[in-house]
Amino acid sequence: MAHQLTATDALVDLWHDVVDQAGVDEDRFMLLAVSGDPEHGGAKAAWFWPRLRVYAHHNVLTPGAAKEANQPANLRRHRVAIYSDFDAEDPVAAARIAAMLRHEVRHAQQFDACGKELFELDHILEEVSERAAPGASNARDLYWAKPIELDANRAAAMYLRDRRPDTIAGILTMDDDTILARETTAPGDPSTLREQTFTRLWELRDMADDPMTFTPPADVADLLAGVDASWATRWRARQG
Ligand SMILES: [Zn+2]
Repeated sequence: MAHQLTATDALVDLWHDVVDQAGVDEDRFMLLAVSGDPEHGGAKAAWFWPRLRVYAHHNVLTPGAAKEANQPANLRRHRVAIYSDFDAEDPVAAARIAAMLRHEVRHAQQFDACGKELFELDHILEEVSERAAPGASNARDLYWAKPIELDANRAAAMYLRDRRPDTIAGILTMDDDTILARETTAPGDPSTLREQTFTRLWELRDMADDPMTFTPPADVADLLAGVDASWATRWRARQG
């Protein structure tokens, strides 16, 4: 495994526990520990798929972390970045970090099951959600209801139940991070997530197809055609 920058022993211990619980090959991953605090409301952890060249403006990354992540030996790996400052003596703080890592590792497992296509579909779903309800009070809910995020939070909550059950009550009191602990359903087969994402997009079609709220670049069928023509064909067939 590769873990660089300022990963502390405590963080590396958490990482090993997460990788073990997830049942993934550690050598296919790289952990990027980034010192500092996230911006308010900003991402606290991030995952980047293999061979994606990353930049300092990406979530969580610094110029140093991006450079490390782009090294040839690391570029082939799933890269997981996290703000790594936490109180290792506090079991709830440690569990919160571990659950975030598990969430990101689940995205890697989703990628291994579905490839980039899933994340292209998710990108459309995200854009539709955001444009359909700009500034809406339920914007965060729409985000966490996306199939890939729900699945990753299910994996995080299962990790907590599995490995750190005593911390769950504490995490559920954390405003931002309650989402990591509240799911009670085990994650399903990740290979179904493309279909689930398409279905969710269809559920939002009233938003998606409202030209008053959903502004160009394109209608949803055109966006789907950019992923694969078959998705656009199915969308248009459903539209009748
Ligand atoms: Zn996520």
